[in-house]
Amino acid sequence: MKPLEFAPGSWSALMADLYRRGGGRRESGAFLLRKMTEAARMVQGWLPYDELDPKSLKYNYVRLESSSFSRLWDICAERKLEVVADVHTHPLGPRQSRSDRANPMISLAGHIALIVPQFARGNVRPKDVSFNVYLGGGNWVSYFQDDAASLIRLR
Ligand SMILES: [Zn+2]
Repeated sequence: MKPLEFAPGSWSALMADLYRRGGGRRESGAFLLRKMTEAARMVQGWLPYDELDPKSLKYNYVRLESSSFSRLWDICAERKLEVVADVHTHPLGPRQSRSDRANPMISLAGHIALIVPQFARGNVRPKDVSFNVYLGGGNWVSYFQDDAASLIRLR
């Protein structure tokens, strides 16, 4: 498994944004993006779920209308961006819920989903999150603690 790299400053800015959007009361999430015009395969920005679908914040947990995905692909094509992973927050621990496992945001083998505990409150370190890789067929492999940290590289 190749590590997911974050451009300088992007990790802490992402965590602060997820916390702000969820207001410390509900889940929030985003697609993590890289610029296709740059060789480095690293997270350089993100597209919050509530910008794709303003209604997504009405629920206590993350969900997106299917129309959000066509909007996502349009934006990626327009701005030459590529989705490298998704991320969302949980109220408590970083373990995937049954619904997270059953409904990958992008059902492609190798897709990465990060889960941030405690609505991304405070100083979130890579070892605090879960790093989940979709294997296809409803199966995932999940990494926690030091294993998660070894797969997240902050530049
Ligand atoms: Zn979840």
